[in-house]
Amino acid sequence: MSTTTSTTPTTSTPPTPSVTVAAPVVPTTGALTPLGLDEVRITDGFWADRQRVNGTATLPHVEHWLEREGWLRNFDLAAAGTLPEGRRGREFADSEVYKYLEAVAWELGRLGGDEALESRFRAIVDRVAAAQEADGYVNTRFGRPGQGERWSDLEWGHELYCLGHLFQAAVARERTSPGSDDGLLGIATRAADLICEVFGTDGIQSVCGHAEVEVGLAELSRVTGEPRYLELASLFVERRGTGVLQDIEWGRAYFQDDVPIREAEALRGHAVRANYLAAGATDIAVEQSDAGLLDALRGQWDRTIARRTYLTGGQGSHHQDEAFGEDFELPSDRAYSETCAGIASIMFSWRLLLEDRDVRYADHIERVLYNVVATSPSAAGTAFFYANTLHQRTPGESSPDDEVSPRASSSERAPWFDVSCCPPNVARTLASLAAFVATSDDRGVQIHQFASAAIDTVIGGEHGGRFRAELVTDYPRSGVVTMRIVEAPSGPVTVSLRVPSWADDAVVTVRPVDGEPTDRAVTPGYADVERSFVPGDVVELAFSVRPRVTLPDPRVDAIRGSVAIERGPEVYCVESVDLPGGDEAIARIEVGEGVVPVEDADGRLSIELRTRSLPDTAWPYGDAFAGSGPDETFTASIAPYHSWAERGPSTMRVWIPIARA
Ligand SMILES: [Zn+2]
Repeated sequence: MSTTTSTTPTTSTPPTPSVTVAAPVVPTTGALTPLGLDEVRITDGFWADRQRVNGTATLPHVEHWLEREGWLRNFDLAAAGTLPEGRRGREFADSEVYKYLEAVAWELGRLGGDEALESRFRAIVDRVAAAQEADGYVNTRFGRPGQGERWSDLEWGHELYCLGHLFQAAVARERTSPGSDDGLLGIATRAADLICEVFGTDGIQSVCGHAEVEVGLAELSRVTGEPRYLELASLFVERRGTGVLQDIEWGRAYFQDDVPIREAEALRGHAVRANYLAAGATDIAVEQSDAGLLDALRGQWDRTIARRTYLTGGQGSHHQDEAFGEDFELPSDRAYSETCAGIASIMFSWRLLLEDRDVRYADHIERVLYNVVATSPSAAGTAFFYANTLHQRTPGESSPDDEVSPRASSSERAPWFDVSCCPPNVARTLASLAAFVATSDDRGVQIHQFASAAIDTVIGGEHGGRFRAELVTDYPRSGVVTMRIVEAPSGPVTVSLRVPSWADDAVVTVRPVDGEPTDRAVTPGYADVERSFVPGDVVELAFSVRPRVTLPDPRVDAIRGSVAIERGPEVYCVESVDLPGGDEAIARIEVGEGVVPVEDADGRLSIELRTRSLPDTAWPYGDAFAGSGPDETFTASIAPYHSWAERGPSTMRVWIPIARA
């Protein structure tokens, strides 16, 4: 592919502000239009429960810790002119405040308003506003006497990264509360105007060490119609990969400054940085109709999913630099799989889904939602996994409720971290989740994720008009999803329901109010039902979520000869609390070839396991490893991976070795 990419973006036609949709990503063009939080409301079930916990427990928890750790107070000190004395937190602490504001903006949109939450939101915006300088600069770590100069540490300073989160927060607010007088959008545009000058074509020819400002600028451009923001995002994307940042011990791949984005073949380096960059680059490619860039990004997504992604959908297998490994380098016990990397992967995939209407992106989003996003927070919503290992060898250490965990790779969920990117990232994702459920196009409505939900939207196009429907499902417990039409435009409308890649027996049934039901078998992809719907018509998608045994590509050496159990979208795991041999037995369990998981009437799964009793030897290698005693065979419960470590410290594994005959 050509390397002579113009660094002057083509913006002959400035983007017009997108019609207000209460969703995180609203492209001006593409195959699908997202439906916002006021158009899709999740009403019941797996995700409704988590949204409720997120709103009632996680959001207050995050605000409490932002206050307690002084990360909010940093803004007060900036306004008072007393920094750097008293500043607390890492260089990127401001970003957690912005991510929290974004989460609250979505939550207010989801609830349709809440007086107490609204006033808390405004109070924090006021504190940020007071810290903004006259020229638009806002950051509590740089630019004052005794601090580093502005933009003096692009590799590690995170100034632009923090602004990216500020922009996303302002976008969330403007889309859920258009024209609000709280001032957040003004803070964002003043900061964006400043960086257009500082980093524009005549400015500093470099980028931020942590991508994120690109997605923020692209969406801010979509909200305001300001083309310069998109142009700057494009400059950042094109500059990266040309060696504009200092080389570091892990190499420039860490911040994707090793290869221009148009030439890269896979995501590499720091997994969150890589996915945020790819998401922002997708926004730019879409808005600028840049087919070459889009093709490069599709290729990177393909290769990354095919070779650099865990069964859970998690990404990143290097602890030291939180980075992708090489192709097929996916060891379970060293899985880093940062929660934020999963969320970032959803961001990248969702943008490609809106552009391409390719079901694979929606399948991956579901995998990450159930096995990374749902795994991170505790059931109570007040402790979080930062890293998401697939194999825990020794019981994790509990983190006290009132202490910051210094370790991102803490083996138990912790209430807060020294680097606490993940908790507010989970919060904003769950609060905005309804925006990832459904989309529309000129033909009808597409359902990408299954949840009981109320849909109320307007379909465009020739046969357009108001469309209302109720989705009812107990997914993932069952694979039956029922859509009842409440209102539909006259004339043909196409309802499309995603059939997951593993659903090999799916049937779609149409039950018209005034006619005989019809059904047909459908294959993975989108099952389209086109008809002139009348209120009361029902479309039902049904497929089995029976447990299945999954094998790895043998090139994933670390798990060669092992199996995993999945049921519907959920990956399962074995936990020591369910083993007779206790914590240590997790290392010795095996399954017989042809193992069949058994499901009881309550949907709980169990499998037959064998433990080998192995002698301790002076040297763990040799020509044979016979057991020292009789093998033990027993039936053990297995649990969804997202629920692991909820019953106290335990050892755990997702992949189980197959017993040698
Ligand atoms: Zn994180």
